[in-house]
Amino acid sequence: MTNTSWTRQHVLSLADFTVAEYDTVLQTAASFKEVLSRRTKKVPTLQGQVVTNLFFEPSTRTRSSFEIAAKRLSADTLNFTASSSSLTKGETILDTAKTYLALGTDLMVIRHREAGVPQAIATEMDRLGVKVGVLNAGDGQHEHPSQALLDLFTICTLLDRDRPRLELLSGKKIAIVGDILHSRVARSNIWSLTASGAEVHLAASPTLLPHLFADYIKNEIHKNPILNRQLFLHWQIEPALEKADFVMTLRLQKERMTQHLLPSLREYHQLFGIKRDRLQLCQPHVKILHPGPVNRGVEISSDLMDDPNFSLIQEQVTSGVAVRMALLYLMGSGKA
Ligand code: ASP
Repeated sequence: MTNTSWTRQHVLSLADFTVAEYDTVLQTAASFKEVLSRRTKKVPTLQGQVVTNLFFEPSTRTRSSFEIAAKRLSADTLNFTASSSSLTKGETILDTAKTYLALGTDLMVIRHREAGVPQAIATEMDRLGVKVGVLNAGDGQHEHPSQALLDLFTICTLLDRDRPRLELLSGKKIAIVGDILHSRVARSNIWSLTASGAEVHLAASPTLLPHLFADYIKNEIHKNPILNRQLFLHWQIEPALEKADFVMTLRLQKERMTQHLLPSLREYHQLFGIKRDRLQLCQPHVKILHPGPVNRGVEISSDLMDDPNFSLIQEQVTSGVAVRMALLYLMGSGKA
């Protein structure tokens, strides 16, 4: 496995990812997917390196996925949980990060409920002149790059199992539906999917896709020469679903809602829920993604979520391990 084109020390956002970087991640992840299908699902690539999961906010999938990915690469892993840490005694986040640096950390995977914390830690590591790679595992409403990369990998491997690559999405229609305003997953996916040349359609109520926010996103897209700019916004679900090849539905981020933005969960499901009759608007081969955790019967009907003919949700979790192995490998192997 070669990674000659990889120069990125930190992965904090996908806003400036290049096509070559996407393809490197996708192809590296495909190799690791093959490793994961073997009887012995482990390679010695990061032997002797320490991967630390610094999760200041709860997580099931992302945290376990990074942990198993690091273990499959033979790295040593450290796990930090905010509630049982010295943060409760007044230690600052940067001091916590520096403590893990002193313990020998080579790669830090960081989740925080505030946007910008992984960037702040990366800046501090750079200032200290240490070669520690920082990976953003979700910061507030800002970004969740590894989730968008695993979504991309899940879709691209469906289109070409052996050679997943960005160009496969060119001309495909992808709908992102739901709580776009509060979703870091949506934001990272907007960068990767618009970079691929797919037609990206966002759909939500005006409370979850406010016009000001929509203008901001459009503006960002138009400023960025890497992106293909095929972004469409809708305040009803139907035009987004019409002839869609893929539908991503997002969790209602109730923990981030400071106002009453929904009439009721029942009405939300009626207006924006993904359910069987709505799928008739999409392509017959349509597939549904959800980053999880899912509010069953709210973003998506329970029966559809469990239907393997449509749902890629379990596949996304499995893909996540290969993609996170790829990221840890690419960021860590430079020092190996
Ligand atoms: N697991 C994803 C995240 O951490 C999506 C979600 O929580 O809804 O952003």
